[in-house]
Amino acid sequence: MRVLKFGGSSLADFKCLRQVQNLILSQSGDEALIVLSAPGGMTDQLVELAELAEQGVSYEEQWQALESRVKDLHQQVEKLYGAINHWPDFMALANKLAGVKLLQHCPAQIRAFIISFGERVSCALMQTMLGGSQASYLDATRCILTSGGYLDAEVDLKASKSRFASAMREQPNKYYIMPGFTGCNQQGALTTLGRNGSDYSAAVAAACLQAQVCQIWTDVDGVFNADPRFISKATKVDWLSYKEAMELSYFGAKVLHPKTILPCAKAGVPCEIKNTHNPDVPGSVISNKRRGDEQVKALSSLDELAMLTVSGPGMKGKVGMASRVFNALAQDNVSIVLITQSSCEFSISFCVHEADLNLALSALESAFELESQAGLIEPVQVQRDLAIVTLVGDNMKAHKGLAAKFFASLAQAQVNIVAIAQDSTESAISAVVDGSLCNDAVKVCHENFFTHVPSIDVFLLGVGLVGQELIKQLQKQQQWLQNRNIKLNLYGVANSRQLYLNADGVPFDTWHSELEQQQAGFALDKLEAFVKANHLINPVIVDCSSSQQLAEQYCDFLEAGFHVVAANKKANTGSYTYYQALNNAAQRKQRKFLYETNVGAGLPVLDNLQLLFGAGDELLSFNGVLSGSLSYMFGALEDGLSLSEATAKAKVNGFTEPDPRDDLSGTDVARKLLIIARESGLALELSDIEVEPVVSDAFASGTSVDEFMAKLPELDHDFAQRVQAAAEQGQVLRYVGSINNGHCKVGIEAVDKANALYDIRDGENALAILSQYYQPRPFVIRGYGAGAEVTSAGVFADILKTLSR
Ligand code: ADP
Ligand code: ASP
Ligand code: MG
Repeated sequence: MRVLKFGGSSLADFKCLRQVQNLILSQSGDEALIVLSAPGGMTDQLVELAELAEQGVSYEEQWQALESRVKDLHQQVEKLYGAINHWPDFMALANKLAGVKLLQHCPAQIRAFIISFGERVSCALMQTMLGGSQASYLDATRCILTSGGYLDAEVDLKASKSRFASAMREQPNKYYIMPGFTGCNQQGALTTLGRNGSDYSAAVAAACLQAQVCQIWTDVDGVFNADPRFISKATKVDWLSYKEAMELSYFGAKVLHPKTILPCAKAGVPCEIKNTHNPDVPGSVISNKRRGDEQVKALSSLDELAMLTVSGPGMKGKVGMASRVFNALAQDNVSIVLITQSSCEFSISFCVHEADLNLALSALESAFELESQAGLIEPVQVQRDLAIVTLVGDNMKAHKGLAAKFFASLAQAQVNIVAIAQDSTESAISAVVDGSLCNDAVKVCHENFFTHVPSIDVFLLGVGLVGQELIKQLQKQQQWLQNRNIKLNLYGVANSRQLYLNADGVPFDTWHSELEQQQAGFALDKLEAFVKANHLINPVIVDCSSSQQLAEQYCDFLEAGFHVVAANKKANTGSYTYYQALNNAAQRKQRKFLYETNVGAGLPVLDNLQLLFGAGDELLSFNGVLSGSLSYMFGALEDGLSLSEATAKAKVNGFTEPDPRDDLSGTDVARKLLIIARESGLALELSDIEVEPVVSDAFASGTSVDEFMAKLPELDHDFAQRVQAAAEQGQVLRYVGSINNGHCKVGIEAVDKANALYDIRDGENALAILSQYYQPRPFVIRGYGAGAEVTSAGVFADILKTLSR
C-alpha cells in the first residue's frame, strides 16, 4: 500500500486535476490510498463565508464565486468522465451558512463541516476521473477518530487503524480516495485537523496501513533549505531525518504540517515530498535510514508571534510555578511555541501565536488572580510582532561554532535577538527576533550557511569621472567576481539632481539615460525603503562626489545600516568631533566606513597606516608628495618649464582640477595630510595645518580661470629663481606635506638626492613614514596617486572590503 497526498496547489483547476489523475495512473505498484486537499484556495473561500455569515453580513458575492468555481469543475469532469458520485451536499452547506447568519454564531462543529467541504469536492471529482469502479471513496469520518475539539483535532492512531481496515475491507479496490483534513470524534461528528491538515491525514493513513511510503505531492520539488518564496537561492534537501523534518515544520516550513511526521516516524514509514508539476525530479525523503554529513540542513521561520513574560517575586524558587503557567494555557488550548526561563527563575518567557494572545492573557489573568492582587506577580509583559528563526540539523551537536555563526549572522543582518532556545538533542537552535526583520535574518543566515556567495549591494552617489569609471570597472569585473563567488549588485546611481534605483540592478550600458529621466534626487529614506523592500543585507553607499552635504550625512548612512565607501574627502576633513563620531557609528553599527582613496588615490596608504599603528607602531615623522597634479607640475619646473608653462601643461594633460587654483592653493594636500595625521592619532583640525600655497590667495582670487592663467606668468621669474637656487645645491622643489612633532605643514620644499621625494614627479605620489619600526630609513609608499582609473580601482577595493568581518 502506498499513500499519495495531493495538496491544494496540485488541485487548483481542471488542468491540475488531470495532471494528478495522470500521475496516479502512471505510477506502478500495488494499491494506493489517495488523500486529497481542497482545490487550492477553496478552504480560504469557505473560511471567509463562515466568517461573513457569523458577522451576519451578506456573503452572496462570495457564495456565487464558490458556486461557479465548483460548477465549472463539475461540468468539465462530467463532460469527459461521466456522472459524478459522492457529490457533496451543497444544500446542506447553504443551509448551514444561512443558519449561522441567522444566529450570528458559528459553533465549532458547524465550522468544521463548512471548512472541510472543499476536500469532499476534490474527492468526488477525482474518484470519477480515476474511472469510478477502479477507485473506492473512503469516508474520512469513518476512518479517522479524533479527540480534542472540532477544529484542531488530534488523531487516535490506534483506534483509527482498525477503522481504516474495516472501511477498506468493505470495498476493496486498487485505489481509495479519502478527503484530507477531516476526521470524526467519538460522538460521530465531523472534525478537522487544523489548517494545512491534509498532510496529517495522509501520515495517519500511512501509519495505520503500514504503507511503504507516504508521498506528499505539492508545488515545490521537495523540502528546501529555506522557504523558497523568500529565498531565491534556497535549494532542495535530498534527505532529512524525522527529527529534522519535525523541527522544520514546527518552526514554520509550510511544506509540511507539523503533526505529519510523528505518525510516519512511529510506524517507520518513509515520507517523500514531491512536485506534482515536476514529477520526474526526485523529491526529498524523510526517514531514519540514512545519515547525512551536513552540519546544518535547513532554516525556517515562523512569524506573527507574541512573547509573554511572567515575572514577579512570587516566581522565585517556588515549585510548580512553570507548570501552573503552562497548565493555564493548555486548558484554554493555547499552544506554546517556545519557552525560555531566566536563570534566577524570576521570570518565564514564552511565545504564542498572535492570534492566541488575548486567550493566553486572560488564561494567565484568571490563573494568577490572587498572586497578582498580592503583588507577587507583575502584570504580564507582552512583546508583539515577533518571529522565530530556526536552524535545523541533527549533526549540529557534533560541531562547534555553529551557534556562534548563527548569532553572528543575525548581528550582520542588524537583527536584535529577543530570546534564544535550543532543543535538548541540539537538532534545532532558535532565535526570537523582531518580525519585520525576519526575512533579512533568514537571508543572511542562508547566505552564510548555504550559498557561500556573499552579496554586496552598491548605491553609487556621484557619477563624475571616478563614478563613471567605477561603473565601467564593476561591469568589467563581473566575471572575476563570479569566479570568486561574490555577487556584486549595483542597485542605484545618483547625481546631484537625480536618483535612479532598479531592483533588477542598474544596467551598465544604459544607466546614464535612465538616470537622466528621473525626476527626483537622492534622499536616504528612499534608499532605506529600497533596502527594506528588497531585503538587501550588505548595502553600501559609495560616495564619488565631492559634496559637503553628502559628507555630512555619513553618520546617518551608517546608523541606517549602510556601509560607507568614500572617495569624497570632505567627511574625514570636517571637524575632529565628526571624524570620531563617524568611526564610532561604524563600530557600533558593525558597518564599515572606508576611505582609502582619500589619500594617494588607489595606493594602499591608509590601510597600511592602520595596520602599522594597529600593531603598535608610532609615527615619528612624515613627508609626502600627496598631489598628483603638483607632482606633475613640479616635475615640469625641474625640466626647465616656467610656472605658467608647467601649469598650462598639467592642465592640458588633465592633471589638474578644471580650475588649477584648486590644486595650487594647497588645500587638497592639506586635507590629505590631515587625514594621515588623524589616522596616526593626532586630534587636529584643518585649521591647525600650516599651508603655504603655490600661488598666494591674494594673487589667485577674484578672476576667471582664463584671466588667472593669463596673469600667471607674472610669477614665473620668482619661481625660476627658486628652482635655480635649489638646483645649485643639487636639490629639486617638491610640494610636500609633512608632520614633525605633531605639527603639520604643507608647502614647497627643496629636497636633495637622498630624500625619498627627490624622484617623485610626473603625477606620482610618495609617502615616507618614519616610525618606531621604520627608522632611520622610512617606510615608503610610492606610485601614481591620481587619475580616475586608479582612484576607482581603490574604491572598488574598498567596496570588496565590506565583506570582511
Ligand atoms: P500544498 O497545497 O501542497 O499543501 P502548501 O502551500 O501547504 O502546499 O506547502 C507548499 C509550500 O510551502 C511551498 O510552495 C513553499 O512556498 C512553502 N514552503 C515554506 N517553507 C518551505 C521549505 N522549507 N521547503 C519547501 N517549501 C516550503
Ligand atoms: N484544505 C485545508 C487547508 O487549506 C487542508 C490542507 O490543504 O491541508 O488548510
Ligand atoms: Mg499544505
